[in-house]
Parts: sequence; structure tokens; C-alpha cells
Amino acid sequence: MAIPDEDVARVRAATDIVALISEHAALKKQGTRWVGLCPFHQEKTPSFSVNAEMGVFHCFGCQRSGDAITFVREIEHVDFVEAVRRLADRGGVTITEDPTATAERHRRGPLYDAMAKAVDFYHERLLSAPDAGPARDYLRSRGYDGEIVRMFRLGWAPDDWDALAKHLKVSAKVLEEAGLGFVNRRGRLQDAFRARVLFPIFDPSGKPIALGGRILPAPVAGDAGGVGPKYKNSQDGPIYSKRRTLYGLNWAKHDVIENGEVIVCEGYTDVIAFFQAGLPRAVATCGTALGEEHFRLLRNFAKRVVLAYDADAAGQEGAGRVYEWERHHEVDVAVAALPPGADPADLARGDPDALRAAIAEAKPFLAFRVDRVLLSADLRSAEGRAKAAEAALAVVAEHPNELVRDQYLMLVADRCRLEPDALRALAERVAQRARTAPGEGNGSRSERSGADVPRARSGAPAERGPKRGADVSRPGLEALRLAVHRPEEVGDRLEAALFPDELQRAAFEALTGADDLHEAVEAAEHVDPRVAGLLRRLAVEEPATDADDVVVTLVRNASHRALAVVEAQARLSPNSVGEIAPVIARVRRDLDELDDGDHGLAAADRLLAWLVGRDDTNE
Ligand SMILES: [Zn+2]
Repeated sequence: MAIPDEDVARVRAATDIVALISEHAALKKQGTRWVGLCPFHQEKTPSFSVNAEMGVFHCFGCQRSGDAITFVREIEHVDFVEAVRRLADRGGVTITEDPTATAERHRRGPLYDAMAKAVDFYHERLLSAPDAGPARDYLRSRGYDGEIVRMFRLGWAPDDWDALAKHLKVSAKVLEEAGLGFVNRRGRLQDAFRARVLFPIFDPSGKPIALGGRILPAPVAGDAGGVGPKYKNSQDGPIYSKRRTLYGLNWAKHDVIENGEVIVCEGYTDVIAFFQAGLPRAVATCGTALGEEHFRLLRNFAKRVVLAYDADAAGQEGAGRVYEWERHHEVDVAVAALPPGADPADLARGDPDALRAAIAEAKPFLAFRVDRVLLSADLRSAEGRAKAAEAALAVVAEHPNELVRDQYLMLVADRCRLEPDALRALAERVAQRARTAPGEGNGSRSERSGADVPRARSGAPAERGPKRGADVSRPGLEALRLAVHRPEEVGDRLEAALFPDELQRAAFEALTGADDLHEAVEAAEHVDPRVAGLLRRLAVEEPATDADDVVVTLVRNASHRALAVVEAQARLSPNSVGEIAPVIARVRRDLDELDDGDHGLAAADRLLAWLVGRDDTNE
């Protein structure tokens, strides 16, 4: 089923493409463009550009390009209709419904609504309901002032079976699918959360998608004390996936982007603690281990991931997985040196300086693990040092990079007062043992290395930015850039005859045949996708030259080419020389005048008229 073109156009117009893409990648303003690391391929230097005004993106690395709809299609792996629908939802645009494919949208819309209303309801209860007194006391005891409570939209689920269900008045299906309630054994609607302080969980754009609830500790709770586990979280559902969600990212993303660093901690209260301590770049997993999908999300925002778990938990993070994330997502994973037994929330209250220092002094994952081995060892005796060295080398052996391994080997040698060469022999034996032992899938590491990293097409780097030197395609591209970005300046001074490059000529014709860039791109898409790609790329490049210069250059080049043809004709048919000779003379004179200031532009106009006339008769 198709969505009417007018609806698609309205959705496009209602979409802020920079805001959209910023949910997946950090963009920085550069002139009129926004640039950043491509969310579609792995790279270290930004080759991804967005033109906000025209609503298009282009990556010079992997050559992906498109508009907001293309972006959603590719990043969310959905079809055109679904992408338009999601953007329509996002932008508050109502599109003409088609009966078959709207089921999913119809299913999710009410869930988001119910969740948003639930968050408001619980938040209001916490702020003002008399029964929320113990919750407010508890939060105050944790050092949460009104500002924190409002910023994180904290809530209170009353000690009641169905307070929310009564308030929302939605169907059992909606309540259940949103994870807000269920039908109990007596067939009545029951709230999922009861007598708990609530931490709403948002998607990166700030839309609430789930809830995390904590019972009040017994001494504070009194009669209001909840039952069940300390923390209870929404289950996965149509609008929420734990594996892909990081609590706090919606608030943290700006600071994360600015600092290129994200702090990953263990719980909602830890995230809030970091914000309180002046480090508003912390996120937490939501009742699940840090995994592949979290990194896929994070790597678009930061290159450095600092684990701020308590030391034991951090030490247990599987080394194979961490190195795989580091390599695969090109991030550095560090571990914050939190004092033993201290969690970030305690530190934020008691000693915020220590918390900030722990982040500032975070160590690479391997250094952290080697330290732990050596700190727990007895280094006073020769036997103890030998044992410690062997244990430390087993840790070092897990790192995939030989140079890194060797540096740590020397560090271990130093700390254990052993000769590096003696340790190298030992390291080899340790490594062999590790290779034959069943590992964490380390064996696949080397063969996967780089295999799934899309490579830039050969020659692509040369296309990045304005080209240097005598390149015939350069002025044509520049003219097209002007035609896309500043059409009023080039206006009717460009003609297809000026573009010797077939692709450029097609792009120019697509532009002149359409009302705007979108229309041009769409039309081109059907005829030649390369032309559509070129147009999108041009939309994220900026013209660097004056329109007059470009027009004159194009006219000069085209005239020289045409003149060579005419002169060849004259040589081949001497009879026509009488007719052709004056033309040649006039063109040569105009060419000479091209560089002559005001006369130059008039000469360019004459040459252009001649070129267009020739082009017409040739066709
Ligand atoms: Zn790319």
C-alpha cells in the first residue's frame, strides 16, 4: 500500500533531520552543514554530512545518502511505508491511513501515549500526594532535591492495586503491552508497579518507554513498604527493548558528545549520582548486562566508554567481550577506579571529588585487570612474585594486540622484579594453554578482524571535499553545488552543454526539470540511481567559489572543446571554411575577452548562446 505523495512531502517537511540523526550519531555544525561519524560504517574521521535545510545526508566513506526517510529505513531496517509512518508519528503528522499496514503503528501509538500519561501521573503523585510522604523522605535522604526529582521525572506508584489503571482508562491490552499492568486472576486490571519509587526510562529522543521501580528501604517505608525484589523493571514489549536501551542517554547525550566519553554505571541512582557530581554523561543498562547492542548505540556518541561499576563487577566483565567491543566498535573501554565497596551514589553524596577523580583516572580495561591481580598477590616472596606474574600474564594474554601485550608484559616484569625475557618465554606457554582451552570465542577474533567493516570504495577518498589540480570534473561539480545551494546566483546562466561529464549533465538536467531537490532526486532515482546519489552528495557539500568564476570557467572549457570540433570540421570540409572561419574568429575573440572583467561576463553570455545553439543543432 502506498502513502500519498502529499503525505510523504508533509512528513519530510515536518522532520528535523539533524535532530533525527542526532539520536544515532554525534553531529557538529560546520558552516551550513552538520558533520559527524557515520552511523552506517565504522570510521575514525567524520565523513558523514547532513544538510539540514534540504533534509539530506551523505557519507563520503560508505557512499550512503538519502533523506530522513532513507535514514530511518536504513538505520531501523524498515521499509519505506514504515519509515514514513514512524516519521509521521515523530513529527505529529497525520497521514492517510492505508488499512493493511498500519497495524503496528496503531499498536504502538497508544502504548507511547499510555506510558507518557503514566509517567505524568506517577510524577504528580510523588510531588504532591500525601501517601508519597515516605517516598519523598527517602529521596531527600538520598540527597535528591526538587530539581533532580523533576529533571528525572521520578514518580511514586501508590500502595494500591489499580490506581494507574483507573486513571488511564485504557484497554487491558494497552496496559499490558506498555508494561504498566496486567489482568489478575480475578479478571481485574492490576497495576504493574505498586508502592515503589519510579525511575522512568526514556529513548534517546526523550520519549518515555519503560519504568524502573525501587521499593523503599524498610526503616523509611514503614507501612508503605513494598514487597518483592528491590528493583523491578518493565518487561520488553513493543516499545521497549532492554538490550537496546540505556537509561539516561536522553539527558546525557549532549555532554557525552561534547566530551567524547560516556560513563556506564549499574543503576538509575548511579546515573543520577554522576549528574549530581557534575558529570552529566552517565548512562546505565536497565536490568541487563552491557552488550553488543548497547555499544552499537554508544559508539555513535563517544569513543571512550568508562565502566563505573564496583571493582568486582568490572573485574568480572568478560575480557574477550570487552576487547571485541573495543575492536569492533573502535572505542576504548576504561574502568573507573572506584574505592572498594563504594558505589557512585554514596560517593556523590559523601565525596564528589573522589567520584570525579575516579573517572578522570579511569584505567584501560587491561591495566585495571592486571592491577587487580597484582594487588591481590603476595609480592614479598620470590615464589609469590612468580605466581603473581603468571596470573597477570594469563590476563595479558587475552588481549588481541601483540604490542599491547608486550608493554604490559614489561610492566608485569617490573612489578614482579623479573627479567622481561624470562617472562616472554612464560607468556608464550601461558598463551598456548589459553589457545587450547575453551575460551570465550576468542578464536574467531582474528578472522573476523576487519571483515565486517565496510571499506570505502576505491577512489572515494579523492572525492572527499573540493578536488585540487587540473581536474575536468571539478568546475562541473562546483557549478552543480551552486545550482543546488544558491540557484539564484547561477539561475539561467548554466546550460546542459557546459557539462562534459555525462553524470553531471544528467544531474543538472534533473535539477532543472524539477521544482526542488527532493523532486529532482526522486525523479533521478528511477532513471539512474547514480545521479540521485550525486545530487544528495552535492547537497551536503558547500560551494566554495564565486558563481561568476565557475560560469566563466565552464564556458571557457566548453568553448575550447567546441572550438576544437569546429576547427576539425573546417579542415575536413574546405568548402565550408567561408562560413566557419568568422565563427572561429568570433569565438576566439570572446575567449580572449573572458578574463577581462565586465567584458568577460558579456563574452561568457555570447559563448554560452553559441554553445547552446550548437548543442541544439547537434541533437
Ligand atoms: Zn558511511
